[in-house]
Formats: sequence, C-alpha cells, structure tokens
Amino acid sequence: ATFAWTTTNKVQSTSAAAAASPPQISTTSTEVSIQAIMSDIPLDTLAAHANSYASANGIQVERRRDDDNSSFFECAPMSLLPNAYPKDAFQQAHDVAPAFNELIDRVSRDPAFLQDTLGGGVSNMDPYTGKLLQLYQQVYVNEDTSSKPAKAADRLGIHRSDYMLHRPTEQDPYQLKQVELNTIAASFAGLSCKIASLHQYLTTRFATETSDWMEANQKIVSPDNNEATTVAVGVPENPALQRIPLAMKTAFDRYAQRFVDTVNKKNLVILFVVQDGETNTVDQRLLEFALWETHGIPVTRRSLTKLHSDLELNQESGAMILRSTGQEVAVVYFRAGYAPTDYPDGDEGIEWHARLLLEQSRAAKCPSLGYHLAGTKKVQQELARPGVLERFYPDDKQKVEAMRLCFAGLYSMGDDATPEDLQAAQNVLDGKEAFYVLKPQREGGGYNFYGKDLAKKLKENTSHKGSDKDASTLQLGENLAEYILMERLFPPQQRAILLRGGKVEGSGDSVSELGCYGCILVDHEGKVLHNEYAGFLLRTKFSNVDEGGVASGFATLSSPYLC
Ligand code: ADP
Ligand code: MG
Ligand code: MG
Repeated sequence: ATFAWTTTNKVQSTSAAAAASPPQISTTSTEVSIQAIMSDIPLDTLAAHANSYASANGIQVERRRDDDNSSFFECAPMSLLPNAYPKDAFQQAHDVAPAFNELIDRVSRDPAFLQDTLGGGVSNMDPYTGKLLQLYQQVYVNEDTSSKPAKAADRLGIHRSDYMLHRPTEQDPYQLKQVELNTIAASFAGLSCKIASLHQYLTTRFATETSDWMEANQKIVSPDNNEATTVAVGVPENPALQRIPLAMKTAFDRYAQRFVDTVNKKNLVILFVVQDGETNTVDQRLLEFALWETHGIPVTRRSLTKLHSDLELNQESGAMILRSTGQEVAVVYFRAGYAPTDYPDGDEGIEWHARLLLEQSRAAKCPSLGYHLAGTKKVQQELARPGVLERFYPDDKQKVEAMRLCFAGLYSMGDDATPEDLQAAQNVLDGKEAFYVLKPQREGGGYNFYGKDLAKKLKENTSHKGSDKDASTLQLGENLAEYILMERLFPPQQRAILLRGGKVEGSGDSVSELGCYGCILVDHEGKVLHNEYAGFLLRTKFSNVDEGGVASGFATLSSPYLC
C-alpha cells in the first residue's frame, strides 16, 4: 500500500474553513472531559471491551516490523462509540444506491461523453487518467478484434457513494450531500460490518452507562436542532459482507454458465488484484473468506507487477489462465490499480500491460475501464451540470431528481468552465476559500487543497484580462484542468473518542462521512442482471482534520446510530 496507517492523529494546520465553523478540540485531558459525560463507566473499561471485541472479531489491520518486514496484526483505527445519524438521510442514501449504480453503467457505455469530459485538458494534465481513457478506447471503441471477448464480457460494479451531512444555513435541517462516488477498490465493507457489530454490542451491553453520551450527540443531528425528538433506532444491521460476496458470486456463476462448454467449474477462480505491502488485508480477506465459506468460490491474490508474467490470455476466446496455477479467472476484483504508484514500471510498463490483458479477457472486471473512468471526480462534476443526468435518463424524472438532490456545488476548472464556475474560483480569490475544496483526479485520500493552500494554488494559476478583477475577466491556467472545485461541506460536529492501534488517541469534536455500498452486474448489451444497495460504512475524524481516508491515517471506522 502506498499509505501508512499512522498511529498519530494527522491534525493539519487549522484551515480558514475551520475558522468559519470553529471546532473545539480537546485531545488533551481526555479522561476528565470524557468522564464528565460518561460518569458511570471508566473509559479504560469501555476501551478494553472495544479492543477485545475487535481482536475477537477481526477488526484488524496488518502491519510490518521494521527490522525484518515480518507482519503482525493490530486493532484498526476506530471510534469507540457510534455517531448519531438521522435515519431519513440514511434511508435516502440506501434508496438512491441502485440509481447511482445504473448511472455508472450508463456513463461507462458512452464513449463520446467520456472523451468530451476526460480527454483534452484533464488527460493532458493528468497522464494517469489519460492512460485509462486511451486503454478504454483501445478495448471498447476501436474496431480491434483482440478486444471482442472484452466487449462481450459482463460488468461488475462494487461502488461506494460517500456523503456528508450539510445545511445551507444554520436554520435549515441537515441534508445528505455526495462527497464522491468510488467505483474502484471501494474498501472497508468487511471491517465496517464488524464495527457495526462492535457498536451494537457496546451500546446495548452498556446502554445505561453510555446513554447520556449518545443522547448528547443525537441532539446535534436532530432536525429540530437540539431536541432529541425521535426515538433512536440504534446501529442497523450491515449486510455488506453478504451482499458484496453475493454480487461476486452472481458474476462468477454467470461466467461458469456462459462458458460451460469450455470450462471446468472447479478450475475457476476470482482474482483479487492487490498492492504489494497492503495493510488493509483483513478487510479484503473477510470478502475472500465469505466467498469460500458461503459460496465455495476460491480467491487468489496477486499484484499487477507479479501478474504480468503469470497471465496467459487466449486472444480468441478471451479465457485468462494464471500460468502458475493453471486456474481460469472468472472475475477480476481490483483492490489496486487506482493510483499511478500501482504502476511502478511506468507508462508503457508491465503493470499497465497486465491491466490491459485483464481488460481484454472475457472475465467480468470489477471495475471495467469504463466504470473506473465513470467514477472520476471530473465525471462527477460534469454529471452535476444542468441536463447531463437527463442525457442518461431521458425519461426517468424521479431517478434524476433523487440523484440530483445529493449533489453539492461542483465547478469545472478546465477550459469548459462556465461563468458560474469562474465565479466560484473568483470567490476563492476574494477570500472565501473556507467554503471550497479543490480536488484532483486521484483516489485514496490526501490530495485535496483546503483553506490557505487552496487560495495559494488558485492565485498561482489564474490571471485577469484587463483591469477589472472579477469573474468576467478571470482566466484559469491550464494546470487547473485536472482539478474540480467543490463546495465545502460542514457536517454536524459530535463528540467522539478515537482509538488507534488499540490506544485511546483522544476525544474531541468530530465529523463523519457515510459510505453507502451498491453492487451491480450488467451484461454486454446493458441488461441489468443484479442491482442493489449493499451495506454501509461510517468514517469519523476530528473536525480540524481536512482529509478523510482511514487507510491514509486521517479517519477512523465508525457506525451510524440512527435516530
Ligand atoms: P478520495 O477519492 O481521495 O477519497 P474525496 O473526494 O473523498 O477523495 O476526498 C477525501 C476527503 O476529503 C473526504 O473523505 C472528506 O473528508 C474530504 N472532503 C472531500 N470533499 C469534501 C467537501 N466537499 N467538503 C468537505 N470535505 C471534503
Ligand atoms: Mg475516492
Ligand atoms: Mg473519498
């Protein structure tokens, strides 16, 4: 993995945005502040229960010893208790999941839209996205016979749409707003199920002891502001560890059934493409074990680098055999390949070649290149433009409305920028940087610009034509084409106690991001064979931390406590 699981809280310099809604962080004197609220139980006792439960149930991450690189497991970063979450917003995320799944599929089948959106400035400034687009065209657009099996393959999507609660003004109730939609390597389905069980355990076993704490947080997210009017439902069941393996099994069975004349079902395997040195292996293994225990389907794990010499593609049939074992790959599940660092051999190197060979096979890819591209932030920004959802859903107003409700303000920083986009950039230049985030086409956390850094980045890459320094004369430098500008979301701040490596890291005001999984399987003609909501993830971080990834060391795993 390219990201270290840090044991420290990577608190970044407090940004201007934090000043707009100042967090009160108390990472010192933890004992005192927590005990004041949770007076019936010592923190140590609760933390010991959490840690033991985590060990007993695999809420673990892999680490390597410095001296000999051997590995061991330790408790994953987690929130001691769940966070209050409005049940209507949760339901909304649940209900809209199939529509987003289908949207990704439709976008993936529209080469003109992908070329218009991601060709030009984005590809010029970001060669990684350019390379994905080039391979997509090579395999799915050009009349190239070696890609016939790929064109006829099923497409498997395991997506996670991420949301923050946000309100336009303090008088408004919180609304569900999409941060981004992940279509490759959407992680933590395994661990989030176990975390939900942990939090169900703690909040029922210690219901009395934790009730004041839980209620204080419920008031913060309640629609009536500070009145806990509805009865808490608690932590819902998280079906991710059933639904995601089920989607993989459905793709696997389809493969066996379609190629029944030529394959020996016993020889079929699901290939997990992983990073060398990955730390989030338990999360991945939980899917692997569920596939075996529930469906009798074997999984094999390989990095792109190692795969290169192991792939034997039958160009005519599209059958992909692993040389080392003789197994035939029915489904490819990418938990790597989403970052340029996963292709260390460079632009024309062995990892990209392995990716191309896998894509050319008749196996179901999760994701296919089209799904991967449809999950880029540039596509997200383009989909939010007026009329664009309608292009993909010409006669389903309801679905369009349900998806559009989730969109926050999204602005192009490329040569397609509209007057509205330019006004957003001008707002940043005019000192409103606290209300925006600048994002490149990257995955995995840690790449965004906030506050002062954002203002600096825009100042350095813009100019004005003439003497009026306003949006009408603003010119964006071409360096900005690979970025999108997004409205900054300010979720409700609740108190949280965060644990890293099994130790209490601190307590303080926190914000949360809900992830909603969705799985879809579609055949080559666009017929939807399987499409459903597939579980949830809640990540919690201290409110003065801008970035959000768990694996990148910013956030912790938590659960929604519905109220
Ligand atoms: P990545 O693909 O790297 O995860 P994200 O868009 O999810 O990219 O950004 C990373 C993190 O930055 C998020 O988890 C969230 O914590 C924070 N973030 C992203 N967009 C916003 C936003 N509009 N408002 C507030 N925080 C944001
Ligand atoms: Mg992402
Ligand atoms: Mg993200």
